[in-house]
Amino acid sequence: MNCSAPDVGTMELFDLFATDAECERWLVPLMRDDIRSAFAMTEPEVASSDASNIGTGLRIEGDEIVVNGRKRWTTGALDPRTAFSMVVGVSDPEANRPPEVDCADSR
Ligand SMILES: Cc1cc2nc3c(=O)[nH]c(=O)nc-3n(C[C@H](O)[C@H](O)[C@H](O)COP(=O)(O)OP(=O)(O)OC[C@H]3O[C@@H](n4cnc5c(N)ncnc54)[C@H](O)[C@@H]3O)c2cc1C
Repeated sequence: MNCSAPDVGTMELFDLFATDAECERWLVPLMRDDIRSAFAMTEPEVASSDASNIGTGLRIEGDEIVVNGRKRWTTGALDPRTAFSMVVGVSDPEANRPPEVDCADSR
């Protein structure tokens, strides 16, 4: 059915944010099941269920993004058909964190 994790979420991210050229290069073959993708979010150093803890740095240098961090449990990372990986990282460490949610208040 070509609906395995993480490919469907990856397809949705392309639909929302990618350029036409990026969609042509990556999304079309992914939807055709010619390739697979990986989604690299979880990190060994932090509680990764809260995305605001993610520490992998994304530094923009000219036309490139320098990625600095460690990931684990990336489904499909070793699959020979995986052609690319979506990496979750932080481009602005000074950015505001989302407000703390008090679980007692939400009951
Ligand atoms: C089969 C499988 C496939 C996976 N594939 C991928 C993948 O493709 N890509 C990827 O990036 N990751 C993948 N993961 C990793 C998975 O997404 C993470 O394990 C998950 O996001 C939880 O992160 P964590 O292990 O750091 O646990 P933690 O964030 O440390 O959470 C552990 C427990 O503590 C609770 N908790 C955390 N913080 C708090 C808090 N402040 N207060 C109260 N409770 C808290 C959580 O709810 C949870 O119950 C996969 C995992 C499995 C099992």
